[in-house]
Amino acid sequence: MEEKREASKLCPTCGGGMVLEVASYPMGSVFLKERFHVDIYRCPNCDRVNLFAAKSKLITCSVCGSVHHADERCAICAINAAFDRKN
Ligand SMILES: [Zn+2]
Ligand SMILES: [Zn+2]
Repeated sequence: MEEKREASKLCPTCGGGMVLEVASYPMGSVFLKERFHVDIYRCPNCDRVNLFAAKSKLITCSVCGSVHHADERCAICAINAAFDRKN
């Protein structure tokens, strides 16, 4: 298997290569209109953890116009549906 090494992250503590632990982790509350997503890297040598801004795509919801992650459901629309405000 080939590893993706488009941008190798080096550990600031020991200089070893860090591995992607969690991709596109959403920061902050689901009620925020624009959530910030981070990729979480961990160093297998010393367990140092570093955060990087996620490269994954953000899309604009065509229903409510809020910006959210392409792999996620729109939080605003989910809330609106839960409260069924439009009926
Ligand atoms: Zn390290
Ligand atoms: Zn929406």
